[in-house]
Amino acid sequence: MPVITDVKIVKVFTHRGDETVKVTLCAGGVSETAFSPLGKSKGEYEVVYAPKGNVDEAIKRAKKHLIPKLLGADAEDPCEIDKIVKEVDGTDNMAFIGSCISIAVSMAAFKLAARIKAKPIYEMIAVPNSLKLPLPLSNVIGGGRHAEQRMIPAIQEFLVFPANVPSFYEAVKETLNLYKFICATLRKNNIFYGKTDEGALLFKSTSMQALNLLSTIIENYYSMHGIDFYMGVDVAASSIWDPRRKVYVHADSGKVLDRNGQINFISTIIENFNLKYVEDPFHEDDFESFKELQSSYKNTLICGDDLTATNVRRLERALELESCKAVIVKPNQVGLISDTIRFVKLAHERNIKTVTSHRSGETCDETISDLSIAFASSFVKAGIYGGERISKLNRLIEIEALEKLKLVNIREVIR
Ligand code: PEP
Ligand code: CA
Repeated sequence: MPVITDVKIVKVFTHRGDETVKVTLCAGGVSETAFSPLGKSKGEYEVVYAPKGNVDEAIKRAKKHLIPKLLGADAEDPCEIDKIVKEVDGTDNMAFIGSCISIAVSMAAFKLAARIKAKPIYEMIAVPNSLKLPLPLSNVIGGGRHAEQRMIPAIQEFLVFPANVPSFYEAVKETLNLYKFICATLRKNNIFYGKTDEGALLFKSTSMQALNLLSTIIENYYSMHGIDFYMGVDVAASSIWDPRRKVYVHADSGKVLDRNGQINFISTIIENFNLKYVEDPFHEDDFESFKELQSSYKNTLICGDDLTATNVRRLERALELESCKAVIVKPNQVGLISDTIRFVKLAHERNIKTVTSHRSGETCDETISDLSIAFASSFVKAGIYGGERISKLNRLIEIEALEKLKLVNIREVIR
């Protein structure tokens, strides 16, 4: 049995310049590496990124308490390694060791076990019987906390996915072309204002103006290239929720909406723009409004992100209330791959679609690409522009080319 012979932990940076962690695990003469990502519009129910908010402290604790326990562990059993991490942490939210350590160790452990077994990671931990590539769901126009500018849309992400493409490669190619076309249109009209943390395009506008412009550009793109796109949004509503006044503050339009106002606003944009995907339209404790919206719009995937936080207990509550038909899967929200697998299994047992997602702060680590296949996700949300985004899409293009996996059928995803 190959055992862990060395663990290297190094403090490095995300593309945004924030501190994060790179972990390398060695066993049987081979090694695997993983980097921890870092969110900005983080949910209340995510595990703790670093103790006292300090990556140095997380590394110090890992070196003192975790590494000695990992040395000698069975390298073919990553769930066992996750158990060791959990035991050493000893809290229910990674508060002692920090998810910057736990998720990088866990991803490296799963990659190492797959390497030793000479299998791709998605075959080793596949949730479904048949392996498929997810559809890329791409953030092309941005706003909200990922921009932190005045006069930009209050909605965080304006997302697209192509309606009818034969392959993952074609999906990325067309989405990139659309992105470049949006960029050129903004520049031509002198309204290009920069990019968000995820490389999405920025211009000074309200959410409604951004949706109008995007739908016009999609129509123009269709008449030129014959490729259609569906639209979606990630409202990231916890970021605009004022818990004291119990209102959503749309700083772009000056609107301050109570619960009913927010339901009306989201209903209007779903209907006007035929939105097929709406993530976090309400703040993370409002399971009931999610349910109300999902039951009114059965053909739109209402998706929980901060709502469910890749956490089985939160998902159980969402299932009980039928709050949503889709959930985001972000392994670092829960801190371990084995716990992420539990979450994904429960979602699929109950017919909930999964969307495997990057974080806004990223490195070129591609592990989530492989995981999106293992998790049988309908979508992979990895952005579309920038090295730390395209690396993940390129990995899926490579798997498609070399392993001949098929793209998920869009009809199985949306109606
Ligand atoms: C998101 O909200 O879906 C997201 C990726 O942002 P962050 O990583 O900043 O939470
Ligand atoms: Ca989100």
